[in-house]
Amino acid sequence: MCGIIGYLGDQEATPILMESLKRLEYRGYDSAGVAVLEMPAAGKANHTSITKSEAKVDMLIEKLKANMPTGKLGIGHTRWATHGKPTYVNAHPHTDCHNRIFVVHNGIIENFAELKAELQAAGHEFTSDTDTEVVPHLIEANYKGDFLSAVRAALKRIRGAYALAMFSTDDPELLIGARLNAPLVVGLGDHEYYIASDITAIIPYTKRVLVLGEGEVVAVTPLGAQVSTLDGVSVQPKLIHVDWDLSQAQKGGYRHFMLKEIHESPEAVANAMRGRLTDDGIVTFREFDVPDEEMRRYREVLLLGMGTSLHAAMVGEYIIEDWAGIPAKAMDASEFRYRRPTFSEDGSLAVVLTQSGETADTLVGLHQAKQRGARTVAVTNVVASSAARDADGAIYLHSGPEIGVASTKTLLAHLISLYLLGLRMATVHGRVSLERRHELVESLRALPDHVEGIVARENEIAKIAKKYSRYRNFMYTGRGLGYAIALEGAIKLKEISYIHAEGVTGGELKHGPIAMLDENFPVIAVCTSSATKDKMVSNVHEIVARSAPVLALVTEGDHSLDGVATDVFVMPAVEEAAGAILNTVMLQLFAYHVAVELGQDVDQPRNLAKSVTVE
Ligand code: GLU
Repeated sequence: MCGIIGYLGDQEATPILMESLKRLEYRGYDSAGVAVLEMPAAGKANHTSITKSEAKVDMLIEKLKANMPTGKLGIGHTRWATHGKPTYVNAHPHTDCHNRIFVVHNGIIENFAELKAELQAAGHEFTSDTDTEVVPHLIEANYKGDFLSAVRAALKRIRGAYALAMFSTDDPELLIGARLNAPLVVGLGDHEYYIASDITAIIPYTKRVLVLGEGEVVAVTPLGAQVSTLDGVSVQPKLIHVDWDLSQAQKGGYRHFMLKEIHESPEAVANAMRGRLTDDGIVTFREFDVPDEEMRRYREVLLLGMGTSLHAAMVGEYIIEDWAGIPAKAMDASEFRYRRPTFSEDGSLAVVLTQSGETADTLVGLHQAKQRGARTVAVTNVVASSAARDADGAIYLHSGPEIGVASTKTLLAHLISLYLLGLRMATVHGRVSLERRHELVESLRALPDHVEGIVARENEIAKIAKKYSRYRNFMYTGRGLGYAIALEGAIKLKEISYIHAEGVTGGELKHGPIAMLDENFPVIAVCTSSATKDKMVSNVHEIVARSAPVLALVTEGDHSLDGVATDVFVMPAVEEAAGAILNTVMLQLFAYHVAVELGQDVDQPRNLAKSVTVE
């Protein structure tokens, strides 16, 4: 999720690009770059100047100040790497073989590997490891003198997600933008136009904004902005008037980053699957490209994490054991590092889960596991982070930056990654039929829409949260995947509302925790479809008998808790693993609204930090 900006107008482009990139930095800051079409001296050919930095926008600004390109057309980028390390050569803008076409991109080109091979076979030379670089080369391959037609032809070949800003040195008065599965807006100023990945970039310059639709292209010239489809059919775009301030704009108009990030969950779920799953359920991870024979050698799996990542690890433990039929164990990385674990000599895989890739305890756990002979893979959101570098392989979440301290969308991406890993292991171990794979693929692909459905019920969840926000103690309970989700529900409530909450298995309740329950100690019970659902229903009866209020998550069509639980929240009927994701989103929104009700600082809760880099 990087930030992109394009400018065409009467003013000098470079200062506008610099300022806009600074405002977009919250979307990513692995590297940055601009391309500006410089005004040629009379009789000279057009020339485009490229400036890049392999670090944050400030470094780029320093370089530009020392050597400021002049010109009225330009594009800029601040990167959140998904494909290729955060290095100078991988920084955008990217260009074609003749340095004529310049492109900045936000998103993931799913079929870039096949396109790259095809273009290379046709003689195109690539200089970076990014997926993005196929775009300028593909446009070049389709260029027959008309830049806009070449862009359309190229984009028709691309699968995945993109928001693009582009220009060609041959067309000094044409700036092109396009989008698919990634946002893009067009700002309309006075004799000037902006293309940006979000309103933040352009807020000081204009309040008039066109919102581009899926699969649309905008061609900006001094005469105006023309929107059309990839087939060239013109479209009447939606014009909106924005009156947000900068901080509202960065939060996409949401009150908190956490809420914005929960709303980004459908996209995060889709991005974690993008390009990794075929219709037949065959999974490939680009940076963890292990041949089947090797994958088959992993006879046991250890999953390490801390906090929310530990809960993801617990879900992974259940899934790998259940789907692949091999032993799996989730562990608190801070405990693991001081134990003397032994790994089977036949082959073990250690999966380390860390959003930032820098969690100190998890990194030490990773090193320990490696030393003791396990193969390691980091599941992380940050490309080339310490965990990704130190592990044998990486599975990237592709969620974009998460700013709220409480992890939300990245947990979902962690879960999806583990489901894909589980499916891959189940497949190599011959534990899953083609029919079952089809079922799982269908259920995973439907997830973004189901997540959207839960997010859309925010008001309903807020109402329940309001009702429960007066309690000072909460118990969360579930079994199987539901237990991991119960723990996650509890941590979310603790970290942002400072209310005491704990998670226990439905089975454990009677062994102690139930003694605490009374009318002032509510229980959130995860009772959606699973092999142990009936056991959970019995647990709820036991809880109600102790007068504790119960909020039960149940699957639609299941009426066993009607009139028993104090409140019932009905979830869609989906496959159990998919259900775990939906339950998570519901409990995130519940915790969020309890915290808001109590007036807490949701994005920066006291005593916490986003990335825990000390022991
Ligand atoms: N996939 C592109 C890259 O890795 C764009 C990154 C993004 O949008 O997050 O450079």
